[in-house]
Amino acid sequence: MKIGCHVSIAQNIWACFERALSVQSEVFQIFTQNQRQWKSVHYSKEDIEKFHELRKQSPYGSEPIVAHASYLINLCADDEQKLIKSREAFVEELKRCDLLGIDYLVIHPGSFGGQSLEWGIEKVAETLNFAMDYFEPQVQILLETTAGQGNNLGFRFEQLQAIREQVKLKEKVAYCVDTCHIFAAGYELENLEGLNRTLTLAKKILTFELIKVWHFNDSMHDRGSRKDRHAAIGEGKIGLAAFEYLVNYKPFDTTPAILEIPGGKEKFAENIELLKNLRK
Ligand SMILES: [Zn+2]
Ligand SMILES: [Zn+2]
Repeated sequence: MKIGCHVSIAQNIWACFERALSVQSEVFQIFTQNQRQWKSVHYSKEDIEKFHELRKQSPYGSEPIVAHASYLINLCADDEQKLIKSREAFVEELKRCDLLGIDYLVIHPGSFGGQSLEWGIEKVAETLNFAMDYFEPQVQILLETTAGQGNNLGFRFEQLQAIREQVKLKEKVAYCVDTCHIFAAGYELENLEGLNRTLTLAKKILTFELIKVWHFNDSMHDRGSRKDRHAAIGEGKIGLAAFEYLVNYKPFDTTPAILEIPGGKEKFAENIELLKNLRK
């Protein structure tokens, strides 16, 4: 696997390259704008050019860049106004990704509110179809596994697969697997037999080819807790062995593994080094 982390774009979108390098990240993930703000940011021509120029000059020129969509967007919002707002913001995310030449846009399927899970699955697919009818993107959309807190969709591999099944432009949709989320959702990772059972399910339902990105986070809470609290690698309930196995797992040889752990820059650098050292 290629080891990296989430990187800040504070002040300048193009500052991500230098920041990723400073923690020895081999690949990285960004938000394409402040993720807690609805209003879309439109970057100047100069900023976009500088982003492409710095990428070319950096070691990241030939690596995929991952973006994570805003947490405000709910692709299956129960409320009509919220859904319209989410769809508009999502289309803007796609456009921003294309301007920046982003390879993958990771997004959580969303919360189905007072509706049923099946309704949510259909609504997410409908939103994806709506967005791609309006603007056919270059960027590939990655549906992320979730911990299943509240009424959030995506806590079983089958749910992500069912969404993709209903999408018209299937080649534009693939998956991101977050270790903390699937563990919190109940998938076994805490020992190698269990991890292998989980990998078998992922292969069968999602297929390895469509898992384009992993999020590498340990979990503060127990398996099946459905609570989403990330911990540093080896410092949670998953433990180091699962990560050691995964970084050396051949089907994901060149797949990005992105850390989203607490502790800031020093912790990122430390965990990136730790994971690199686990590679054989
Ligand atoms: Zn996420
Ligand atoms: Zn999480």
